Amino acid sequence: MAEKSFKYVIVGGGVAAGYAAREFTKQGVKPGDLAVISKEAVAPYERPALSKAYLFPEGTARLPGFHVCVGSGGERLLPEWYAEKGISLILSTEIVKADLASKTLISAAGETFKYQVLVIATGSTVLRLSDFGVQGADSKNIFYLREIDDADKLVEVIKAKKNGKAVIVGGGYIGLELSAALRINNIDVSMVYPEPWCMPRLFTADIAAFYEGYYANKGVKIIKGTVAVGFDTNANGEVKEVKLKDGRVLEADIVVVGVGARPLTTLFKGQVEEEKGGIKTDGFMKTSVPDVYAVGDVVTFPLKLYNDIRRVEHVDHARKSAEQAVKAIFAGEQGKSIAEYDYLPYFYSRSFDLSWQFYGDNVGDTVLFGDNNPTSPNPKFGSYWIKDGKVVGAFLEGGNPEENKAIAKVARIQPPVESLDQLTKEGLTFACKI
Ligand SMILES: Cc1cc2nc3c(=O)[nH]c(=O)nc-3n(C[C@H](O)[C@H](O)[C@H](O)COP(=O)(O)OP(=O)(O)OC[C@H]3O[C@@H](n4cnc5c(N)ncnc54)[C@H](O)[C@@H]3O)c2cc1C
Repeated sequence: MAEKSFKYVIVGGGVAAGYAAREFTKQGVKPGDLAVISKEAVAPYERPALSKAYLFPEGTARLPGFHVCVGSGGERLLPEWYAEKGISLILSTEIVKADLASKTLISAAGETFKYQVLVIATGSTVLRLSDFGVQGADSKNIFYLREIDDADKLVEVIKAKKNGKAVIVGGGYIGLELSAALRINNIDVSMVYPEPWCMPRLFTADIAAFYEGYYANKGVKIIKGTVAVGFDTNANGEVKEVKLKDGRVLEADIVVVGVGARPLTTLFKGQVEEEKGGIKTDGFMKTSVPDVYAVGDVVTFPLKLYNDIRRVEHVDHARKSAEQAVKAIFAGEQGKSIAEYDYLPYFYSRSFDLSWQFYGDNVGDTVLFGDNNPTSPNPKFGSYWIKDGKVVGAFLEGGNPEENKAIAKVARIQPPVESLDQLTKEGLTFACKI
């Protein structure tokens, strides 16, 4: 098969790839020099839409509406945009072999792609219950959500099982957003997770209590402290019941599993240095292999602010790390230098009428402020995390853009705090006056 050769290749066609492509054009990439190779059949899009408006019965999001870079208020890069810029957008093409020594990629169809500079943007894949040997985990109507094809299957089953019953396995981002989306579609929803409260990696018990109360008021049944251990099916092989470890059995027409993800590093195993499960880079997204960069979910990078190295599976980092890598590539070619990546962690989620943002690090003591009564008409509350006498993290539900900016500033500046009581009393005012 023919061999294609590019100066730059981005492998992966998700959020980071799209933002990297835009940055390549800003840096003046020449027509013909760049290729984006993606397993997906569509141009890069804002993945977070899949668990939100993509599933809504009204105000539904569909492509081309949410191609990157609309999620950060930027230009929407339609497939034509890539053509106009002379970027080869090579879709429905999975790379199955990467040889970093010979700078060669090989696709499932046997095509060979050569590059001079490679940007790895393969993202993550979902953890599956079948990976853990859960009985019946391959039954029909058990769904996962990562790519647009998965979301399309969910849209179909929501239509097919009108007013049916769903069990959501997992209490993280996907679990919370999918429970809300299915409820909005008038599906009877139960959520099951083993932890004492939802989103335990970020939420404190107080924060979680608000969301659990709010969800319960919306009719979502929450079952905590147990896990799904098996699935029974009907004669068509469709899931019918979810068996829980504590002996309970839940009826289900639909099961959605959101139990985590793992970075897609397999292609590069043994060829590039890894750490904390990701591909290790420096502050310029450069890996241990010359001319190979990594961005987005897949990368373990120096988090300068905390003098640590971390992997971050969030869209803001995917966008910013992609831009950083491309800036570094061009600066390197021109013998210039750029500042190291100095990332402030930023996570957010939206469900029902709720919307929260978090900035910084969730370590140390916490204080809660504001109205966190789930039955309030306009709940608005937040939390600060305090370590070594300084505010290092801030969470806000229901904030307006200025207030969200204020908590971001607090997390970046890390102002000292004299008294936790005083901080609780001041609440959001503390952030707004910084
Ligand atoms: C449903 C959902 C909702 C989310 N919501 C939020 C949110 O509200 N807020 C937030 O901060 N984050 C959210 N995230 C996380 C965020 O979307 C990711 O952190 C982000 O997409 C990571 O970008 P990426 O480019 O590294 O990976 P991805 O966007 O996953 O892109 C990876 C791409 O690489 C392709 N690929 C992988 N392997 C190969 C291969 N071998 N050959 C060719 N192509 C390949 C994939 O098909 C995919 O197109 C959400 C994630 C999901 C799945």
